[in-house]
Amino acid sequence: MVNRRKFIKNTSLGGAFLLAGNTFADIIPVGNITTSIDNEPIVISTWDFGIAANAAAWQILKNNGRALDAVEQGAMVPEADPKNQSVGLGGLPDRDGIVTLDACIMDEFGNCGSVAALQNILHPISVARRVMEKTPHVMLVGNGALQFALQQGFKQVNLLTPESEKDWKEWLKKAEYKPVNNIENKSFSPRKLPGNEYNHDTIGMLALDSKGNLSGACTTSGMAYKIHGRVGDSPIIGAGLYVDNEIGGATSTGVGEEVIRNVGSFLVVELMRQGYPPEEACKEAVMRIIKKKPETAKEVQVGFLALNKKGQYGAYAIQKGFSFAVCNKQNQELLIKGNSYY
Ligand code: ASP
Repeated sequence: MVNRRKFIKNTSLGGAFLLAGNTFADIIPVGNITTSIDNEPIVISTWDFGIAANAAAWQILKNNGRALDAVEQGAMVPEADPKNQSVGLGGLPDRDGIVTLDACIMDEFGNCGSVAALQNILHPISVARRVMEKTPHVMLVGNGALQFALQQGFKQVNLLTPESEKDWKEWLKKAEYKPVNNIENKSFSPRKLPGNEYNHDTIGMLALDSKGNLSGACTTSGMAYKIHGRVGDSPIIGAGLYVDNEIGGATSTGVGEEVIRNVGSFLVVELMRQGYPPEEACKEAVMRIIKKKPETAKEVQVGFLALNKKGQYGAYAIQKGFSFAVCNKQNQELLIKGNSYY
């Protein structure tokens, strides 16, 4: 039930999002709104593989389930897909041939959990959720994260598939670190690329449930052939993912170092707080990266994806080729080519 007081607040909130470019003085306090009359459940996620992930998340959202459960279930889909060489099982390894996974999750209360450089666990997103729910901490890394996962009953698996091992061995011949943009759009297969090159991408997912609550998840095997121990933006709350239940959520994909330098996802959410619509907020965050390092930005891909409290979404990337998937009552398998600077 939505009472009149909530209706008025939500109307104000809608107005706030239309005021692109306004200042902090224009921020409209939204209190603890958890229900909105015009909000419908929605889930959005990065890249083409977001379609399958959204489908799993939608099973929860359409039955009035919690956004947090939806994003966890959704993120688990690419994590378990051995054909996806940028997330979970089958992810390309670091330069030593070791698959290391980064993941984080954030709920409507501002709770968050994260794991980084985790080995041999199929679902790092679920371990991140356990960190959030079962420990007083936010982030566990490396062997500590693995030990925690084992204590929680997760089983060890070999994440290095024969295909990814073959690609790594091929890479070793030159051992040159040079990320390739939008690899996910090249049919998951780096072997189809000229010169058998490199690979990175992430599933970042944001959901709004029927109670009007937001959650997000982000999971990746990170940059292929990275230095062992390298951690990207994906498990860093505020960089790879941020959710503020009053305002909206944001997530990122691409070269994580550039996202961390600008605390990208937090920035996108704060811009939405100032009234920027989601795509404009993502664009402004991309512009920060470009302005600080114009030469670097010519070469790298970073894409941001955002969802606000009203269920409006948008994305923006440095380079062409960034796609994102949308699923709601009207569209179950919508794939959108995001706008970009170049
Ligand atoms: N952001 C990920 C990382 O830096 C990779 C990607 O999304 O392309 O590890």
